[in-house]
Amino acid sequence: MKILISGASSGIGMSIAKAMLEDGHEVIGFARRREKLNSLVEEGAGKFHAFQCDVCDVDSLKKMKDSIAAEIGTVDVLVNNAGVGYLGEMRGAKLEEWHAMFDINVKGLLSLTHLFLEDLIENKGFIFNIDSVAGHEVYPTAVVYCSSKWAVKAISMGLEKELRGKVKICNISPGAVETEFVEHTSDDEKRKQMKEQFQDVLNGDDIAAAVRFAIGQRERSAINEITIRPWK
Ligand code: NDP
Repeated sequence: MKILISGASSGIGMSIAKAMLEDGHEVIGFARRREKLNSLVEEGAGKFHAFQCDVCDVDSLKKMKDSIAAEIGTVDVLVNNAGVGYLGEMRGAKLEEWHAMFDINVKGLLSLTHLFLEDLIENKGFIFNIDSVAGHEVYPTAVVYCSSKWAVKAISMGLEKELRGKVKICNISPGAVETEFVEHTSDDEKRKQMKEQFQDVLNGDDIAAAVRFAIGQRERSAINEITIRPWK
């Protein structure tokens, strides 16, 4: 299958890309940091296609889609993974960080879904939305992040109802995963605290295993919701 992954340059997205290459799929991955995709290009030996693209830039997403259509073909699986979490209390927070979380986590996911939906329907494919346990709970210091992930859950639930029999929708909700995620929080105290909490938790391979599991199901069954927490 041809699998498109947003945010393949690190963490969960990179692990999913590696797992899908191992399974013999053709993988298209994009991120803003193109150089971070080079290792996948080498590993993929012609089966990994890298694009530099910002999920918030609809024109550049459209150009990427045109290149994919011309050079690779239509996409069977969309993994909406790109996301950020800027954590800290609402009081004193940066408004641009709140906006960025909705622009990337929600509007970026919607833009990609909108662009590729017809291909996915035609190919009877899959959409994986990388949500979070933060899409099921609300934590102090993560209020806006949680609300962006609740939106992701709502989108997954709605897509599943509208597209049943056409596209398999799978909402994956990880707990803490050790990735670059925590590095982006600008509140120094909160970042330090999170780095301690995010040790010896899940890693990207655990989430890739869930994608593998859902893709590997029989034609008649669709796995719509997976929640994975560290077992400690
Ligand atoms: P990372 O920071 O390691 O990876 C985030 C990825 O998203 C990077 O590849 C980054 O690439 C990409 N990205 C961010 N902004 C954009 C953008 N505007 N356009 C294109 N790509 C972008 O974090 P994770 O792997 O942990 O996060 C992946 C997803 O998993 C996110 O949606 C996150 O919310 C979710 N998640 C993470 C958890 C965790 O504990 N780590 C738990 C639950 C869910 P680049 O910067 O090069 O553009």
